[in-house]
Amino acid sequence: MTDFSYDVVVVGGGPAGTMSARYAAMGGARTLLIEEHRAAGSPVQCTGLVSSKTLDVCGIKPGPWVYQEVTGAHIFAPDGSSISIGGEKVRAYVVDRKMFDRHLLAQAAAAGAEVLIGTKAVGLGDAEGKKVLEVISGGRKMRIKTGVVIGADGVQGSIARWSGLGQVRKLLSGVQIETAYDVADTDHVEVFVGSEVPGFFAWVVPVNDNTARVGLCIDPARTQLSAYEHLMQFLDSNPRMKERAARGCSDMLVGCIPLGPQSCTAGDGVLITGDAAGQVKPTSGGGVYMGALCAKIAGEVAAKAALSGDTSAGALMEYDRRWREAVGRELAVGMRIHKVFGRLGDEDFNELIRFFGEPEVLELINTYGDIDHPSILIGKLLAKAKGKKLFGMFRVALKAMVSRE
Ligand SMILES: Cc1cc2nc3c(=O)[nH]c(=O)nc-3n(C[C@H](O)[C@H](O)[C@H](O)COP(=O)(O)OP(=O)(O)OC[C@H]3O[C@@H](n4cnc5c(N)ncnc54)[C@H](O)[C@@H]3O)c2cc1C
Repeated sequence: MTDFSYDVVVVGGGPAGTMSARYAAMGGARTLLIEEHRAAGSPVQCTGLVSSKTLDVCGIKPGPWVYQEVTGAHIFAPDGSSISIGGEKVRAYVVDRKMFDRHLLAQAAAAGAEVLIGTKAVGLGDAEGKKVLEVISGGRKMRIKTGVVIGADGVQGSIARWSGLGQVRKLLSGVQIETAYDVADTDHVEVFVGSEVPGFFAWVVPVNDNTARVGLCIDPARTQLSAYEHLMQFLDSNPRMKERAARGCSDMLVGCIPLGPQSCTAGDGVLITGDAAGQVKPTSGGGVYMGALCAKIAGEVAAKAALSGDTSAGALMEYDRRWREAVGRELAVGMRIHKVFGRLGDEDFNELIRFFGEPEVLELINTYGDIDHPSILIGKLLAKAKGKKLFGMFRVALKAMVSRE
């Protein structure tokens, strides 16, 4: 005996969950979204830097949850030299992720999705050709029958595992503090590459004139130290941090970033989306854009399948095909860029930043640079890299990255 029945149930109230619930409801499906925490968007595990395209995908305009408009970035090489990229155009926003997520949740509810917060999925089974989700809500165990379950339950999500779709295998480890910082330009983020951040990069994202989110992400396979230990070292030894960052912080977050998409994201009566499906840019670790874009498709396909009565894996594979058509190549290229960058030493990075700083190259970056689609810029850079010492090795790798898909 089940307590409730829906066409589509979405597990997770992050950007992927709220977007899929919104689009499932817009597709005419009776939709329920559940979120285990008592408030959507909390606890925050994000820097809150989202591209302007992310807002377009989410169909929203900048609101009171935007702290800063970002027009460019200062990128620092291991030797302390730097280049500045960007221009006049607003390319990204620094947002309050908690408020951003709540805004998206309100949009899902406005589209007709029912929302149950403080409700945790604890099991998934089958009965009479439907999925049966076991949840605990307000201390009470309930069973919810549904045509399709969408697992938008994040990087540690259970829905994929329970339905045999596996789990994201490779994870990066991230940590960030919000602290007093002597911000040089509130419309620029700062990025630091090199051996002090093995396998990824460190960042400073301005919140206002004198506060910033300072964090880093590392590849645990490349270091014995934790992300937190690396951040402490970075704050203690990087000359810019010594000069501008205050000791102590007002907020700290830790979290994981999945690297590489799941090989299959649809099963009988189940779809997975967002971090749960590894739909995260391997070059920046940003998951809101990709997650929202793929989740939209998940909502549409789930509604169509549930209303047609065919929720088989065969029918739901439309989602897997469509999201790979939309961003599969970008993710694959991003993975290759990530691998190549992971092999570079400090000297290579110094040379690379010098190369990026050449006027013609800088112009290419400023014209074609796209945080969500770096493959376009990579293609343009290939020609320019010709003849450079570093690019004897690097160019071959870059070319392989782009051409193999
Ligand atoms: C340090 C760090 C910094 C980052 N910075 C950025 C950034 O600046 N820009 C960017 O685009 N991305 C960033 N990311 C990545 C971004 O936070 C994620 O990609 C994004 O939140 C994924 O959205 P999602 O909806 O898939 O998952 P989540 O946002 O993780 O949401 C999943 C939701 O599911 C809920 N849930 C889980 N299990 C259950 C269950 N059993 N029952 C009910 N609910 C459940 C969780 O409570 C959670 O609310 C960062 C990540 C880290 C770790």
